[in-house]
Amino acid sequence: THFGFKTVPQEQKEQLVRGVFSSVASNYDIMNDVMSMGIHRLWKKHFIEKLDCGMRPNSSEPLHFLDVAGGTGDIAFGLLDHARLKYGDNKSTMVVADINPDMLKEGAKRCLSTPYANSPRIQFLEQNGEKMDAIEDNSKDVYTIAFGIRNFTDIQAGLNTAYRVLKPGGIFACLEFSQVDNQMLDYIYQAYSFSLLPLMGQLIANDRDSYQYLVESIRKFPNQETFASMIREAGFYVPGKGYENLTFGVAAIHIGVKL
Ligand code: SAM
Repeated sequence: THFGFKTVPQEQKEQLVRGVFSSVASNYDIMNDVMSMGIHRLWKKHFIEKLDCGMRPNSSEPLHFLDVAGGTGDIAFGLLDHARLKYGDNKSTMVVADINPDMLKEGAKRCLSTPYANSPRIQFLEQNGEKMDAIEDNSKDVYTIAFGIRNFTDIQAGLNTAYRVLKPGGIFACLEFSQVDNQMLDYIYQAYSFSLLPLMGQLIANDRDSYQYLVESIRKFPNQETFASMIREAGFYVPGKGYENLTFGVAAIHIGVKL
């Protein structure tokens, strides 16, 4: 199979992405570790700390989080933990939305070994992030998406939907692979990702095609500036330059505020 976007008609891409994540669902952590040399754990930790979410001491209103493409729940559990441990927040709610039922099943399973097991505060929902029919307009305080939006068929539709579901004052935050900002490093990075990654995918997970697809999806994703302007296009206020590079731009965090 060839997983290049350009060679695949739009309507087949959704199906394709489903297949990739169904086939990696059980090997999911390995995939992330291979893709990022283990650094994704640090990026996610930084992302969560940067957002610093949680009910402040003088607030009685729980926050409503939505983690899109939430897969196995890494970001969701991390955000809830941060709110609980730093702010004593035991009320805020979390919806984990993902297009892939296998990833959601894995997340629900992992949830059983967290403090949120069987809690009505957390919900796993099968949803396409481009539409999110089950999520009401102006209903969420924080929208997060980590390593998910580059898999969307229509990224702008995903951003427009993020804007729709956030309350005024709500925050959009995206952690995603991006473009390396140094030519020399980029050369090394490209060599690593195009030759070594698919090979490692084959050796470690016996799944060369999925890794090939993931590498190509990173390369085709808009660069930091372009992605920031797409966030503005969706209606968000983008503070400052709009992003923070992590590890020379191998990944980046983009922020938008719905005013
Ligand atoms: N956020 C998790 C993390 O950081 O570990 C999971 C990231 S995983 C690389 C990408 C996820 O995006 C997969 O679970 C996949 O099913 C999901 N996904 C892809 N296209 C999607 C879409 N259109 N709507 C919602 N989720 C989508």
